[in-house]
Amino acid sequence: MSIIKENIEQINKKIEASAEKSGRKREDITFVVVSKTIDVPRIKEAVETGENNLGENKVQEIMDKYEPMGEGIKWHLIGHLQTNKVKYIIDKVELIHSVDSIKLAEEISKRAVQHGLVAKILLEINIANEESKFGINPKDAERIVLEISNLSNIMIKGLMTVAPFVENAEENRVYFKQMKQLLVDINSKKIDNVYMDVLSMGMTGDYEVAIEEGATMVRVGTGVFGARIYPNKN
Ligand SMILES: *Cc1c(COP(=O)(O)O)cnc(C)c1O
Repeated sequence: MSIIKENIEQINKKIEASAEKSGRKREDITFVVVSKTIDVPRIKEAVETGENNLGENKVQEIMDKYEPMGEGIKWHLIGHLQTNKVKYIIDKVELIHSVDSIKLAEEISKRAVQHGLVAKILLEINIANEESKFGINPKDAERIVLEISNLSNIMIKGLMTVAPFVENAEENRVYFKQMKQLLVDINSKKIDNVYMDVLSMGMTGDYEVAIEEGATMVRVGTGVFGARIYPNKN
């Protein structure tokens, strides 16, 4: 078996074990295979295992890989999205994880109306208030959910976060707990049209802890494909 397939098998076992620890089943957790920077042949190897949720952080990469990867893929946009690029992916993605402003949500709504579809989104939360990160301050989340809930053809499915980069995943447990609490708090407000149940959190270094704390979706790249090689930025 290829290393990619072996990695996926191992990760699936860990997802199952962590889900059980939190009283859930493997099928309650969506495994998003993060394929950014990875070429189509290697992504296809991953998809052969049956995993068909792919995460990309750039609009351009989704557009480049969309045709070659063919049907049956659920594309997840997990990186920062500029309003002027919404039009390129609105009819291609299963879920936009990275909505971080009302302005962006308005553009998504507008494009969704044009295409006659309902766009599913998550609100990205900057749970640790890191200056380097995108995402909404947790204090503003409820107000923003309320505003977005009035827009047409857009459905808020839940929350997403990119937790701090840490050596020891346990350090992020507190943030994962806060994310879960935020989701519960917002749902308890019973806002019209808002019922959120997706919690997208946990990456290669910390997805097990994230699941233990309530993640329903994990985004794992390096753990599947190995370290990413970025083109020289000079
Ligand atoms: C790259 C990326 C991931 C995957 O990170 P790994 O550490 O490689 O698993 C997850 N989420 C987002 C938003 C990313 O950009």
